[in-house]
Amino acid sequence: MHFLPKYCRRTTSTTRIGDLLMGSDYPIRIQTMANTSTDDIEASVAQAERCEAAGSELFRFTTQGIREVESLSHIKEALLREGHTMPLVADVHFRSDVADAAAQVADKVRINPGNYAPTPEAIRERFTHLIALCRAHKTAIRIGVNHGSLSPRIMQQYGDTPEGMVASCMEFLRIAVEENFRDIVLSIKASDTRIMVTTVRLLVRTMDAEDMHFPLHLGVTEAGEGEDGRLKSAVGIGALLADGIGDTIRVSLSEEPENELPVARELVHFFTDKTSSRYTTNQASIEGDTLIYTCAEDNIDLLGLHAAAECGHLLWDNNIQKLIIRPACPAMQDAADKLAKDILQAAGLIRYKTEFVSCPGCGRTMFDLQDTIAKIKQAFRDPSGTDQRPLKIAIMGCIVNGPGEMADADYGYVGAGRERISLYRGKECVRKNIEQDEAVKQLIQLIHEDLGTK
Ligand code: SF4
Repeated sequence: MHFLPKYCRRTTSTTRIGDLLMGSDYPIRIQTMANTSTDDIEASVAQAERCEAAGSELFRFTTQGIREVESLSHIKEALLREGHTMPLVADVHFRSDVADAAAQVADKVRINPGNYAPTPEAIRERFTHLIALCRAHKTAIRIGVNHGSLSPRIMQQYGDTPEGMVASCMEFLRIAVEENFRDIVLSIKASDTRIMVTTVRLLVRTMDAEDMHFPLHLGVTEAGEGEDGRLKSAVGIGALLADGIGDTIRVSLSEEPENELPVARELVHFFTDKTSSRYTTNQASIEGDTLIYTCAEDNIDLLGLHAAAECGHLLWDNNIQKLIIRPACPAMQDAADKLAKDILQAAGLIRYKTEFVSCPGCGRTMFDLQDTIAKIKQAFRDPSGTDQRPLKIAIMGCIVNGPGEMADADYGYVGAGRERISLYRGKECVRKNIEQDEAVKQLIQLIHEDLGTK
Protein backbone atom coordinates (compact mmCIF):
# COMPACT_ATOMS: atom_id res chain seq x y z
CA MET A 1 0.00 0.00 0.00
CA HIS A 2 1.17 3.53 -0.59
CA PHE A 3 -0.17 7.00 -0.35
CA LEU A 4 -0.67 8.65 -3.70
CA PRO A 5 2.15 10.81 -5.07
CA LYS A 6 2.35 14.50 -4.29
CA TYR A 7 0.92 16.88 -6.84
CA CYS A 8 3.64 18.81 -8.65
CA ARG A 9 2.40 21.40 -11.13
CA ARG A 10 4.08 21.66 -14.50
CA THR A 11 5.76 25.07 -14.82
CA THR A 12 4.21 27.24 -17.49
CA SER A 13 4.35 30.75 -18.80
CA THR A 14 1.54 33.15 -17.86
CA THR A 15 -1.30 34.05 -20.19
CA ARG A 16 -3.50 37.07 -19.59
CA ILE A 17 -7.20 36.75 -20.42
CA GLY A 18 -8.94 40.01 -19.61
CA ASP A 19 -8.04 40.61 -15.97
CA LEU A 20 -7.44 36.91 -15.33
CA LEU A 21 -3.94 35.46 -15.22
CA MET A 22 -3.51 31.83 -16.13
CA GLY A 23 -0.52 29.53 -15.70
CA SER A 24 1.42 27.70 -13.03
CA ASP A 25 1.91 30.81 -10.87
CA TYR A 26 -1.87 30.98 -10.42
CA PRO A 27 -4.63 28.61 -9.31
CA ILE A 28 -6.10 26.19 -11.83
CA ARG A 29 -8.98 28.14 -13.35
CA ILE A 30 -12.40 26.57 -13.79
CA GLN A 31 -14.69 27.46 -16.64
CA THR A 32 -17.80 26.53 -18.54
CA MET A 33 -19.72 27.48 -21.68
CA ALA A 34 -23.15 28.91 -22.42
CA ASN A 35 -25.82 26.68 -23.89
CA THR A 36 -28.09 29.63 -24.66
CA SER A 37 -28.40 31.10 -28.12
CA THR A 38 -25.73 33.82 -28.21
CA ASP A 39 -28.28 36.05 -29.91
CA ASP A 40 -30.59 35.77 -26.91
CA ILE A 41 -28.84 38.52 -24.97
CA GLU A 42 -31.05 38.44 -21.90
CA ALA A 43 -30.85 34.66 -21.40
CA SER A 44 -27.10 34.67 -22.11
CA VAL A 45 -26.39 37.44 -19.60
CA ALA A 46 -28.49 35.69 -16.97
CA GLN A 47 -26.69 32.39 -17.54
CA ALA A 48 -23.27 34.05 -17.41
CA GLU A 49 -24.21 35.67 -14.10
CA ARG A 50 -25.39 32.36 -12.65
CA CYS A 51 -22.21 30.62 -13.75
CA GLU A 52 -20.00 33.35 -12.34
CA ALA A 53 -21.86 33.08 -9.04
CA ALA A 54 -21.28 29.30 -9.17
CA GLY A 55 -17.53 29.84 -9.54
CA SER A 56 -16.83 30.06 -13.27
CA GLU A 57 -13.72 32.15 -13.85
CA LEU A 58 -14.13 32.31 -17.64
CA PHE A 59 -17.25 31.90 -19.75
CA ARG A 60 -17.45 30.89 -23.41
CA PHE A 61 -20.05 31.61 -26.07
CA THR A 62 -20.35 30.08 -29.50
CA THR A 63 -19.91 32.75 -32.17
CA GLN A 64 -20.72 31.06 -35.43
CA GLY A 65 -21.12 34.31 -37.40
CA ILE A 66 -20.68 38.07 -37.28
CA ARG A 67 -24.18 38.47 -35.82
CA GLU A 68 -23.18 36.36 -32.80
CA VAL A 69 -20.02 38.43 -32.34
CA GLU A 70 -22.22 41.55 -32.24
CA SER A 71 -24.46 39.81 -29.71
CA LEU A 72 -21.39 38.95 -27.66
CA SER A 73 -20.43 42.62 -27.54
CA HIS A 74 -23.93 43.43 -26.16
CA ILE A 75 -23.62 40.60 -23.61
CA LYS A 76 -20.26 41.94 -22.52
CA GLU A 77 -21.57 45.49 -22.18
CA ALA A 78 -24.54 44.29 -20.13
CA LEU A 79 -22.32 42.23 -17.82
CA LEU A 80 -19.85 45.09 -17.35
CA ARG A 81 -22.73 47.44 -16.53
CA GLU A 82 -23.66 45.08 -13.71
CA GLY A 83 -20.05 44.95 -12.52
CA HIS A 84 -19.22 41.47 -13.85
CA THR A 85 -15.67 41.25 -15.14
CA MET A 86 -15.45 37.50 -15.78
CA PRO A 87 -13.54 37.17 -19.08
CA LEU A 88 -15.65 36.10 -22.05
CA VAL A 89 -14.41 33.71 -24.70
CA ALA A 90 -15.63 33.49 -28.31
CA ASP A 91 -15.72 29.97 -29.73
CA VAL A 92 -15.07 30.07 -33.48
CA HIS A 93 -15.12 27.28 -36.03
CA PHE A 94 -14.67 27.45 -39.81
CA ARG A 95 -14.56 31.23 -40.27
CA SER A 96 -11.35 33.17 -39.78
CA ASP A 97 -13.25 36.41 -40.53
CA VAL A 98 -15.43 35.71 -37.48
CA ALA A 99 -12.31 35.06 -35.38
CA ASP A 100 -10.98 38.46 -36.54
CA ALA A 101 -14.21 40.19 -35.50
CA ALA A 102 -14.33 38.31 -32.18
CA ALA A 103 -10.74 39.34 -31.41
CA GLN A 104 -12.03 42.90 -31.15
CA VAL A 105 -14.78 42.01 -28.69
CA ALA A 106 -13.91 38.96 -26.59
CA ASP A 107 -11.17 38.52 -23.99
CA LYS A 108 -10.10 35.28 -25.67
CA VAL A 109 -10.83 33.71 -29.04
CA ARG A 110 -10.84 29.96 -29.42
CA ILE A 111 -10.00 28.73 -32.90
CA ASN A 112 -10.01 25.16 -34.14
CA PRO A 113 -6.93 24.38 -36.26
CA GLY A 114 -8.94 21.63 -37.96
CA ASN A 115 -11.23 24.08 -39.72
CA TYR A 116 -9.43 27.44 -39.65
CA ALA A 117 -7.78 27.47 -43.08
CA PRO A 118 -7.12 24.83 -45.75
CA THR A 119 -3.40 25.16 -46.50
CA PRO A 120 -0.22 26.03 -44.56
CA GLU A 121 0.04 29.27 -46.59
CA ALA A 122 -3.54 30.29 -45.77
CA ILE A 123 -3.01 29.39 -42.10
CA ARG A 124 0.06 31.62 -41.89
CA GLU A 125 -1.61 34.55 -43.64
CA ARG A 126 -4.87 34.41 -41.65
CA PHE A 127 -3.35 33.49 -38.30
CA THR A 128 -0.72 36.27 -38.37
CA HIS A 129 -3.55 38.68 -39.14
CA LEU A 130 -5.55 37.34 -36.17
CA ILE A 131 -2.49 37.63 -33.94
CA ALA A 132 -2.04 41.28 -34.93
CA LEU A 133 -5.67 41.99 -34.03
CA CYS A 134 -5.36 40.12 -30.74
CA ARG A 135 -2.19 42.01 -29.87
CA ALA A 136 -3.87 45.34 -30.62
CA HIS A 137 -6.96 44.48 -28.56
CA LYS A 138 -5.17 42.57 -25.75
CA THR A 139 -7.08 39.41 -26.59
CA ALA A 140 -5.78 35.93 -25.81
CA ILE A 141 -6.04 32.96 -28.19
CA ARG A 142 -6.87 29.34 -27.45
CA ILE A 143 -5.58 26.93 -30.05
CA GLY A 144 -8.19 24.24 -29.50
CA VAL A 145 -7.70 20.96 -31.37
CA ASN A 146 -10.45 18.33 -31.35
CA HIS A 147 -9.91 14.67 -32.19
CA GLY A 148 -13.10 14.62 -34.25
CA SER A 149 -12.39 17.65 -36.42
CA LEU A 150 -8.86 17.40 -37.78
CA SER A 151 -8.28 18.98 -41.18
CA PRO A 152 -8.30 16.75 -44.28
CA ARG A 153 -4.62 17.63 -44.79
CA ILE A 154 -3.62 16.42 -41.31
CA MET A 155 -5.86 13.35 -41.64
CA GLN A 156 -4.19 12.43 -44.91
CA GLN A 157 -0.72 12.76 -43.44
CA TYR A 158 -1.24 11.29 -39.96
CA GLY A 159 -4.78 9.91 -39.65
CA ASP A 160 -6.66 10.85 -36.48
CA THR A 161 -3.67 9.97 -34.31
CA PRO A 162 -2.10 11.72 -31.32
CA GLU A 163 0.78 12.68 -33.63
CA GLY A 164 -1.69 14.32 -36.04
CA MET A 165 -3.41 16.27 -33.28
CA VAL A 166 -0.10 17.49 -31.88
CA ALA A 167 1.19 18.42 -35.37
CA SER A 168 -1.99 20.41 -35.98
CA CYS A 169 -1.57 22.31 -32.72
CA MET A 170 2.16 22.92 -33.13
CA GLU A 171 1.70 24.34 -36.64
CA PHE A 172 -0.25 27.24 -35.12
CA LEU A 173 1.83 27.50 -31.98
CA ARG A 174 5.09 27.89 -33.91
CA ILE A 175 3.58 30.80 -35.85
CA ALA A 176 2.49 32.46 -32.60
CA VAL A 177 5.99 32.06 -31.15
CA GLU A 178 7.61 33.42 -34.34
CA GLU A 179 5.31 36.41 -34.02
CA ASN A 180 6.31 36.72 -30.35
CA PHE A 181 2.66 36.44 -29.28
CA ARG A 182 2.48 34.80 -25.85
CA ASP A 183 -1.12 35.09 -24.63
CA ILE A 184 -1.85 31.57 -25.75
CA VAL A 185 -3.67 28.63 -24.18
CA LEU A 186 -3.71 25.19 -25.76
CA SER A 187 -6.15 22.35 -25.67
CA ILE A 188 -6.41 18.96 -27.29
CA LYS A 189 -9.67 17.21 -26.55
CA ALA A 190 -11.14 13.84 -27.44
CA SER A 191 -14.11 11.80 -26.37
CA ASP A 192 -11.87 8.77 -25.80
CA THR A 193 -10.18 9.50 -22.46
CA ARG A 194 -7.09 7.45 -23.18
CA ILE A 195 -6.50 9.19 -26.52
CA MET A 196 -7.02 12.58 -24.89
CA VAL A 197 -4.49 11.86 -22.14
CA THR A 198 -1.92 10.29 -24.47
CA THR A 199 -2.15 13.25 -26.84
CA VAL A 200 -1.88 15.98 -24.22
CA ARG A 201 1.16 14.24 -22.74
CA LEU A 202 2.71 14.10 -26.23
CA LEU A 203 1.96 17.80 -26.73
CA VAL A 204 3.72 18.66 -23.48
CA ARG A 205 6.80 16.61 -24.47
CA THR A 206 6.83 18.24 -27.91
CA MET A 207 6.57 21.73 -26.42
CA ASP A 208 9.27 20.96 -23.85
CA ALA A 209 11.61 19.87 -26.65
CA GLU A 210 11.08 23.29 -28.27
CA ASP A 211 11.36 25.18 -24.98
CA MET A 212 7.70 26.19 -25.03
CA HIS A 213 5.71 26.17 -21.81
CA PHE A 214 2.24 27.49 -22.53
CA PRO A 215 -0.73 26.86 -20.22
CA LEU A 216 -3.10 24.01 -21.00
CA HIS A 217 -6.88 23.81 -20.96
CA LEU A 218 -8.15 20.29 -20.21
CA GLY A 219 -11.44 18.66 -21.10
CA VAL A 220 -13.06 15.48 -22.40
CA THR A 221 -15.48 16.11 -25.27
CA GLU A 222 -18.89 14.48 -25.49
CA ALA A 223 -18.57 13.07 -21.98
CA GLY A 224 -22.37 12.89 -21.65
CA GLU A 225 -24.28 13.64 -18.48
CA GLY A 226 -25.14 12.30 -15.06
CA GLU A 227 -22.80 9.99 -13.21
CA ASP A 228 -21.23 8.52 -16.36
CA GLY A 229 -20.43 11.99 -17.72
CA ARG A 230 -18.80 13.00 -14.45
CA LEU A 231 -16.74 9.80 -14.26
CA LYS A 232 -15.54 10.13 -17.83
CA SER A 233 -14.43 13.72 -17.34
CA ALA A 234 -12.79 12.81 -14.03
CA VAL A 235 -10.85 9.92 -15.60
CA GLY A 236 -9.44 12.09 -18.42
CA ILE A 237 -8.89 15.34 -16.57
CA GLY A 238 -7.75 13.56 -13.38
CA ALA A 239 -5.06 11.59 -15.22
CA LEU A 240 -3.47 14.81 -16.46
CA LEU A 241 -3.89 16.70 -13.20
CA ALA A 242 -2.10 13.80 -11.51
CA ASP A 243 0.80 14.50 -13.91
CA GLY A 244 0.76 18.16 -12.82
CA ILE A 245 -0.62 19.19 -16.23
CA GLY A 246 -3.56 21.57 -16.56
CA ASP A 247 -4.05 25.29 -15.91
CA THR A 248 -7.76 25.53 -16.59
CA ILE A 249 -10.37 22.80 -16.79
CA ARG A 250 -13.82 22.44 -18.21
CA VAL A 251 -15.98 19.47 -17.22
CA SER A 252 -18.31 19.22 -20.25
CA LEU A 253 -21.70 17.83 -19.29
CA SER A 254 -24.92 17.66 -21.29
CA GLU A 255 -26.61 19.55 -18.45
CA GLU A 256 -26.95 23.14 -17.41
CA PRO A 257 -23.46 24.70 -17.34
CA GLU A 258 -23.80 25.59 -13.64
CA ASN A 259 -23.71 21.85 -12.89
CA GLU A 260 -20.20 21.55 -14.31
CA LEU A 261 -18.62 23.91 -11.82
CA PRO A 262 -18.86 21.94 -8.54
CA VAL A 263 -17.36 18.92 -10.35
CA ALA A 264 -14.48 20.98 -11.73
CA ARG A 265 -13.88 22.58 -8.33
CA GLU A 266 -13.81 19.19 -6.60
CA LEU A 267 -11.27 17.82 -9.09
CA VAL A 268 -8.99 20.80 -8.55
CA HIS A 269 -9.38 20.55 -4.77
CA PHE A 270 -8.67 16.80 -4.79
CA PHE A 271 -5.28 17.23 -6.47
CA THR A 272 -4.10 20.59 -5.26
CA ASP A 273 -5.28 20.82 -1.66
CA LYS A 274 -2.90 18.93 0.60
CA THR A 275 -5.71 18.40 3.10
CA SER A 276 -7.83 16.42 0.59
CA SER A 277 -8.36 12.69 1.08
CA ARG A 278 -5.82 12.04 -1.69
CA TYR A 279 -3.04 13.04 0.70
CA THR A 280 -4.53 12.06 4.01
CA THR A 281 -6.21 8.68 3.66
CA ASN A 282 -6.59 7.23 0.16
CA GLN A 283 -4.25 4.46 -0.94
CA ALA A 284 -3.53 2.50 -4.08
CA SER A 285 -1.74 -0.77 -4.64
CA ILE A 286 -1.11 -3.03 -7.58
CA GLU A 287 -1.18 -6.82 -7.39
CA GLY A 288 -0.44 -8.44 -10.75
CA ASP A 289 -2.94 -6.98 -13.21
CA THR A 290 -5.24 -5.67 -10.47
CA LEU A 291 -5.40 -2.15 -9.05
CA ILE A 292 -6.80 -1.89 -5.53
CA TYR A 293 -7.96 1.59 -4.59
CA THR A 294 -8.92 2.30 -0.98
CA CYS A 295 -10.89 5.45 -0.39
CA ALA A 296 -12.12 6.82 2.90
CA GLU A 297 -14.86 8.91 1.35
CA ASP A 298 -18.33 7.97 2.60
CA ASN A 299 -20.25 9.99 0.02
CA ILE A 300 -20.72 7.78 -3.04
CA ASP A 301 -20.63 10.69 -5.52
CA LEU A 302 -17.33 11.98 -4.13
CA LEU A 303 -15.97 8.45 -3.92
CA GLY A 304 -16.76 8.03 -7.63
CA LEU A 305 -15.16 11.31 -8.61
CA HIS A 306 -12.03 10.69 -6.56
CA ALA A 307 -11.61 7.09 -7.68
CA ALA A 308 -12.13 8.03 -11.34
CA ALA A 309 -9.73 10.95 -11.12
CA GLU A 310 -7.03 8.79 -9.58
CA CYS A 311 -7.49 5.42 -11.25
CA GLY A 312 -7.42 6.31 -14.98
CA HIS A 313 -3.69 6.95 -15.19
CA LEU A 314 -2.86 4.11 -12.79
CA LEU A 315 -4.85 1.71 -15.00
CA TRP A 316 -3.31 2.82 -18.27
CA ASP A 317 0.24 3.35 -17.09
CA ASN A 318 0.45 -0.08 -15.44
CA ASN A 319 -1.50 -2.20 -17.95
CA ILE A 320 -4.14 -2.99 -15.34
CA GLN A 321 -7.10 -5.18 -16.30
CA LYS A 322 -9.04 -5.29 -13.03
CA LEU A 323 -10.05 -2.63 -10.55
CA ILE A 324 -11.15 -3.19 -6.98
CA ILE A 325 -12.44 -0.21 -5.01
CA ARG A 326 -12.52 -0.61 -1.25
CA PRO A 327 -14.72 1.97 0.42
CA ALA A 328 -14.31 2.84 4.08
CA CYS A 329 -17.87 1.76 4.77
CA PRO A 330 -18.57 -1.94 3.97
CA ALA A 331 -22.21 -1.08 3.22
CA MET A 332 -20.96 0.81 0.14
CA GLN A 333 -19.16 -2.21 -1.35
CA ASP A 334 -21.89 -3.06 -3.92
CA ALA A 335 -21.94 0.55 -5.10
CA ALA A 336 -18.13 0.52 -5.22
CA ASP A 337 -18.13 -2.68 -7.33
CA LYS A 338 -20.43 -1.03 -9.88
CA LEU A 339 -18.30 2.09 -9.76
CA ALA A 340 -15.19 0.04 -10.58
CA LYS A 341 -16.89 -1.28 -13.75
CA ASP A 342 -18.06 2.22 -14.68
CA ILE A 343 -14.52 3.57 -14.30
CA LEU A 344 -13.08 0.76 -16.44
CA GLN A 345 -15.66 1.68 -19.10
CA ALA A 346 -14.89 5.41 -18.76
CA ALA A 347 -11.21 4.53 -19.28
CA GLY A 348 -12.13 2.58 -22.43
CA LEU A 349 -10.96 -0.76 -21.01
CA ILE A 350 -14.34 -2.53 -21.06
CA ARG A 351 -17.83 -1.84 -22.39
CA TYR A 352 -20.35 -3.64 -20.22
CA LYS A 353 -23.32 -1.31 -20.77
CA THR A 354 -24.58 1.00 -23.47
CA GLU A 355 -22.37 4.05 -23.70
CA PHE A 356 -24.07 7.37 -24.34
CA VAL A 357 -21.89 10.13 -25.67
CA SER A 358 -23.37 13.58 -25.99
CA CYS A 359 -22.12 17.08 -26.47
CA PRO A 360 -22.80 19.69 -23.79
CA GLY A 361 -24.89 21.76 -26.20
CA CYS A 362 -24.23 25.40 -27.05
CA GLY A 363 -25.79 28.21 -29.02
CA ARG A 364 -25.91 25.93 -32.06
CA THR A 365 -28.22 23.40 -30.41
CA MET A 366 -31.77 23.62 -31.78
CA PHE A 367 -33.53 20.96 -29.69
CA ASP A 368 -33.96 20.03 -26.05
CA LEU A 369 -30.77 18.06 -25.58
CA GLN A 370 -31.37 16.97 -22.00
CA ASP A 371 -34.91 15.74 -22.65
CA THR A 372 -33.77 13.84 -25.76
CA ILE A 373 -30.90 12.16 -23.91
CA ALA A 374 -33.29 11.08 -21.16
CA LYS A 375 -35.71 9.53 -23.69
CA ILE A 376 -32.97 7.68 -25.58
CA LYS A 377 -31.38 6.42 -22.35
CA GLN A 378 -34.75 5.24 -21.14
CA ALA A 379 -35.27 3.25 -24.33
CA PHE A 380 -31.92 1.48 -24.14
CA ARG A 381 -31.65 0.67 -20.47
CA ASP A 382 -33.64 -2.33 -19.32
CA PRO A 383 -35.72 -2.00 -16.14
CA SER A 384 -33.20 -3.86 -13.99
CA GLY A 385 -30.59 -1.25 -14.83
CA THR A 386 -28.42 -3.72 -16.72
CA ASP A 387 -28.13 -2.76 -20.35
CA GLN A 388 -29.10 -5.39 -22.84
CA ARG A 389 -26.55 -4.52 -25.49
CA PRO A 390 -23.33 -2.57 -25.16
CA LEU A 391 -23.82 -0.09 -27.98
CA LYS A 392 -22.36 3.37 -28.24
CA ILE A 393 -25.03 5.97 -29.03
CA ALA A 394 -24.21 9.62 -29.67
CA ILE A 395 -26.60 12.54 -29.22
CA MET A 396 -25.13 15.66 -30.72
CA GLY A 397 -26.50 19.18 -30.82
CA CYS A 398 -25.57 20.26 -34.34
CA ILE A 399 -24.69 19.02 -37.79
CA VAL A 400 -21.70 21.39 -38.05
CA ASN A 401 -19.57 19.68 -35.43
CA GLY A 402 -21.69 16.73 -34.34
CA PRO A 403 -20.92 14.04 -36.95
CA GLY A 404 -17.17 14.59 -36.74
CA GLU A 405 -17.11 14.73 -32.96
CA MET A 406 -19.24 11.69 -32.22
CA ALA A 407 -16.18 9.50 -32.43
CA ASP A 408 -16.79 5.84 -33.14
CA ALA A 409 -20.45 5.74 -32.07
CA ASP A 410 -22.60 2.94 -33.48
CA TYR A 411 -25.55 5.31 -33.88
CA GLY A 412 -25.91 9.06 -33.88
CA TYR A 413 -28.78 11.47 -33.30
CA VAL A 414 -27.69 14.83 -34.67
CA GLY A 415 -29.45 18.20 -34.78
CA ALA A 416 -29.74 19.14 -38.47
CA GLY A 417 -31.52 22.50 -38.18
CA ARG A 418 -34.49 24.01 -36.41
CA GLU A 419 -36.67 21.06 -35.32
CA ARG A 420 -34.86 18.75 -37.75
CA ILE A 421 -32.75 15.73 -36.90
CA SER A 422 -30.52 13.39 -38.90
CA LEU A 423 -29.82 9.84 -37.80
CA TYR A 424 -26.52 8.07 -38.36
CA ARG A 425 -25.49 4.43 -38.45
CA GLY A 426 -21.76 4.65 -37.78
CA LYS A 427 -20.52 7.45 -40.01
CA GLU A 428 -23.33 7.07 -42.56
CA CYS A 429 -26.34 9.39 -42.46
CA VAL A 430 -29.28 7.02 -42.90
CA ARG A 431 -32.25 9.33 -42.18
CA LYS A 432 -31.88 12.98 -43.08
CA ASN A 433 -33.73 16.05 -41.78
CA ILE A 434 -36.57 14.15 -40.14
CA GLU A 435 -39.00 15.93 -37.87
CA GLN A 436 -37.81 16.28 -34.32
CA ASP A 437 -41.06 14.92 -32.90
CA GLU A 438 -40.48 11.65 -34.76
CA ALA A 439 -36.74 11.37 -34.38
CA VAL A 440 -36.36 9.53 -31.08
CA LYS A 441 -38.95 6.97 -32.16
CA GLN A 442 -37.18 6.48 -35.48
CA LEU A 443 -33.79 6.05 -33.81
CA ILE A 444 -35.20 3.39 -31.49
CA GLN A 445 -36.86 1.68 -34.44
CA LEU A 446 -33.66 1.80 -36.50
CA ILE A 447 -31.58 0.22 -33.74
CA HIS A 448 -34.15 -2.46 -32.99
CA GLU A 449 -34.42 -3.31 -36.71
CA ASP A 450 -30.64 -3.63 -36.98
CA LEU A 451 -30.43 -5.77 -33.89
CA GLY A 452 -33.44 -7.86 -34.87
CA THR A 453 -34.91 -7.22 -31.44
CA LYS A 454 -38.31 -6.00 -32.65
S1 SF4 B 1 -21.65 19.47 -31.29
FE1 SF4 B 1 -22.86 20.34 -29.57
S2 SF4 B 1 -21.42 21.58 -28.35
FE2 SF4 B 1 -20.43 21.12 -30.33
S3 SF4 B 1 -20.90 22.92 -31.60
FE3 SF4 B 1 -22.53 21.40 -32.01
S4 SF4 B 1 -24.16 21.85 -30.55
FE4 SF4 B 1 -22.35 22.96 -29.85
